[in-house]
Amino acid sequence: MCCGPCAIYPLKKMLEERIEVCGFFYNPNIHPYTEYRKRLDAVKILADKMELRVIYCDEYSMEEFIRNTIDNVSTRCGYCYTSRLEATARAAVENGFDLFSSSLLYSKYQDHELIKHIGLRMANKFGAHFYYSDFRIGWKEGIKESKEMSLYRQKYCGCIYSEKERYLGIKAG
Ligand code: SF4
Repeated sequence: MCCGPCAIYPLKKMLEERIEVCGFFYNPNIHPYTEYRKRLDAVKILADKMELRVIYCDEYSMEEFIRNTIDNVSTRCGYCYTSRLEATARAAVENGFDLFSSSLLYSKYQDHELIKHIGLRMANKFGAHFYYSDFRIGWKEGIKESKEMSLYRQKYCGCIYSEKERYLGIKAG
């Protein structure tokens, strides 16, 4: 889970399928830190409302993200997806879960096929199962519910580059 709003629809879908879900919050490269805290707090509010158990990986490793992306900013999302899905798959195995998934699969703004590809690769690496679903079909439903819950809704993807692009009016490539 990267934030509250993006997690609503995936959680509902899995719960409807009678999957016993535990959240895993990991969102280490959000800029600035105050924005990171807002997203973390939104997950806590959602968890409370949905009575959801969440494992919080409260790591803010902005420097590591920048070190690994600064020389090739245009491919940063692949690194970002990999680090998130790797941490999620590892946590799933360490905590004895049968499968893992990602709220990244909900976003219309992400490279969906790349996320799916990396998820399957991480499943293979850790000997876990990747629960794939095109959660984008619940885009409008998720937005509506996040508004009804008055959850904090972010205005840009998250990292320092996306924040710059958002407020300089640069279209993401
Ligand atoms: S734009 Fe979004 S997905 Fe891409 S690196 Fe930044 S935070 Fe990650």
